[in-house]
Amino acid sequence: MLRRGDVCPRCGRAISYFHYWRKGSRVYVSAVHYLGRSGGKKIIEKCYLGSYSAEEAERLFGVPRG
Ligand SMILES: [Zn+2]
Repeated sequence: MLRRGDVCPRCGRAISYFHYWRKGSRVYVSAVHYLGRSGGKKIIEKCYLGSYSAEEAERLFGVPRG
């Protein structure tokens, strides 16, 4: 399972957290990288990791089902 702090399979940077959303029976997952601040704004970058079934998303990324 991938967790926060693990290396992103797309860009090799540490994963700050996951962003996910559901559409139909699929779960779409992005890794989010927090890169610091600029002018009071958070700088983040997202790497899209793909779409998964609810079961896969839970197993691979710890996304709660439901
Ligand atoms: Zn990445």
